[in-house]
Amino acid sequence: MIQSQSPALILVADDEPFIRSMLTRYLVKEQYQVIEAADGEQALDLYERHHPDLVLLDALMPVMDGFEVCQRLETLTNHTHAPILMITGLGDEQSVDHAFEIGVIDYITKPIHWAVLRQRVRRLIMQTRLEQQLREANRQLQQMTMIDSLTQVANRRRFDEYLLQEWGRGARDRTSLSLIICDIDCFKPYNDHYGHQAGDYCLQRIAATLSQCVNRPADLVSRYGGEEFAVVLPATTQAGAAAVASGMVRTVYDLALPHKGSDIADVVTISCGVASLVPTPDYLPFDLVFTADQALYEAKASGRNQAQTNLVIPASLGKPTSVMV
Ligand code: GH3
Ligand code: MG
Ligand code: MG
Repeated sequence: MIQSQSPALILVADDEPFIRSMLTRYLVKEQYQVIEAADGEQALDLYERHHPDLVLLDALMPVMDGFEVCQRLETLTNHTHAPILMITGLGDEQSVDHAFEIGVIDYITKPIHWAVLRQRVRRLIMQTRLEQQLREANRQLQQMTMIDSLTQVANRRRFDEYLLQEWGRGARDRTSLSLIICDIDCFKPYNDHYGHQAGDYCLQRIAATLSQCVNRPADLVSRYGGEEFAVVLPATTQAGAAAVASGMVRTVYDLALPHKGSDIADVVTISCGVASLVPTPDYLPFDLVFTADQALYEAKASGRNQAQTNLVIPASLGKPTSVMV
C-alpha cells in the first residue's frame, strides 16, 4: 500500500485557458496540487523547476508542441521524467502511435471523459510513487552493502572496491596513493576486562575518531576486519599520510578511553602502519596493503601507540625498511 505523502504535483500544459482551468479545478478537487503552462516552453521550464509527479500534456500548442516537449524531456532527464499523459483532440492512429513512440505513457482524447481521466491519473500517480519508493529502497540497500553495521564506516567490500578505483586513478594521474592500517592495541584484554559490548562501543568511538582525523572528501575510513581499520588517502604523499597517521595515534590517545588491561597505557591506544606509492605496472594493490601491514607490525614490535611508515619496494629490489613517524 502507498504510504501517505504530500499531495502529488501535476503539471497541466494546454494553450486553451478554458481547458486548463477546467482541468485544474477538477484535479484540485481530487486533492492534487497543480501548476499550469500555456505552451511547451513554459511546460519545460516549470518541469525543471518543480519536478512534478505527472504531466498532462496537450499535443497541439504554440511555440513548442506536446510532441517536442516530450522528446526534450526524454533527453533532458535521460528517460527518467515523470509519466506523461497526453490529452488531445488528435485521435488519429498516426498521432497516437507517434505519441507512444516518443515516450508518452498514456493518451486520452478530447472531449475529456472525466471519470476515465480520474482513474488514469490515479493509476499513474500510484505508479510514480511506487517507483520513487523502489528507487529510494534500492539506494538504501546499496548504501547498506557498503557500510559496516557496527561502526557505520565503510566495510571491507567497499574498501576493496575503493582501493582498486583509486589505484586506477593514481596510475592515470601519476599521483601518490597512501594507505594507513590502524589496529587497536591490546584489544583482547579490553574485551576480557570490560566485556564484549563495551568492546563494540569502543570500536564505534575509534571509528568515529578516525573519521574525524581525515580531511579530504576522497579519504576513506573503513573497517578492515575485527579491530583493524584501513584508511585510503588518494593523491597523498608518504609524508602527508604519515602526518595523518600520527594525528590518529595522538587523537585516539587524547580521547582517554580508560583501559585497565592495557600493557601500554591506562587508556585505549592504536598502532598504525603507513605505505605510499605511485601506482605503476611494477606493483599491485596487494603490495600497498602488504607493506602497510608490515609497517603496522613494526609499530607493534616497537612498543605500540605509534605510527610507522614503510617504503614500498618491489619484491625483486629487496626488503622494505620501516621508519617511525
Ligand atoms: P595487539 O595489541 O597486538 O593488537 O593485541 P590485540 O589484543 O588487540 O590483538 P588480538 O588480535 O590478539 O585480539 C583482537 C581482539 O579484537 C580479539 C577480538 O575478540 C576482538 N574483536 C574483534 N572484532 C571485534 C568486535 O567486533 N567486537 C569486539 N567487542 N571485539 C572484537
Ligand atoms: Mg589489536
Ligand atoms: Mg588485530
